[in-house]
Amino acid sequence: MILQTDTHCHTLSSGHAYSTIGEMAQSALKKGLKLIAMTDHGPAMPDAPGVTFFRNLRVIPDQLYGVQILKGAEVNIMNSQGQMDLSDSVLAALDLVIASLHYPCIKPGSQQENTEALIRAVEHPSVHILGHIGNPLYPIDGTAVIKAVKKHHKLIEINNSSLKPNSFRRGSWENCLHLLEICRDLQVPVVIGSDAHIACDVGDYQQAETLAAEAALPEELILSTSASKLKAYLGIVDAMG
Ligand SMILES: [Zn+2]
Ligand SMILES: [Zn+2]
Repeated sequence: MILQTDTHCHTLSSGHAYSTIGEMAQSALKKGLKLIAMTDHGPAMPDAPGVTFFRNLRVIPDQLYGVQILKGAEVNIMNSQGQMDLSDSVLAALDLVIASLHYPCIKPGSQQENTEALIRAVEHPSVHILGHIGNPLYPIDGTAVIKAVKKHHKLIEINNSSLKPNSFRRGSWENCLHLLEICRDLQVPVVIGSDAHIACDVGDYQQAETLAAEAALPEELILSTSASKLKAYLGIVDAMG
């Protein structure tokens, strides 16, 4: 499978990541990717950049080393009402927004509370992708979340980092397999993201591809296979076409 995009990349600015956006783009070029999204952690994460950082992302060119750069954020869902840690106006100016549950920002609730938090997040008009929803720390009703994602024309992510043997989100494999089987049965597309925190991990999809094959997920449901298909699905309009 040829994959053209990596919609989940952290730069030095996240505070616990180790490469610049230039280094991430060079790595993407080497791996044959056409598009990456810069999705540093929202301000509520310890050591993450503040709101001014996200307001100023326009200074980054739309393309670096021939690779399209979407300027985005991985925002924190703060409560079961789906409140985010960036304001609506800041979110609306970003190219791509991933919303995720992270332990320093929201403690795991009941399955119902976690499900509600994700559904409320996906209802937000500026959110495009729900990040690593297979995390066993936050049990969810996968079918309910995926139905909401489908209804709002958004995506869930297969997060490659979650599936690695050294993952902080251990136990994600079984959950993600179950989620992908639901997507396959309901014909809901997904996106693959590396969640790279260092340049060499950009476009590293080894585990995600194995999982997708295990779930018998058809290739046409994996939107990372085409940058233009992905942008069209998410309604991302830009100068790059
Ligand atoms: Zn995350
Ligand atoms: Zn991340």
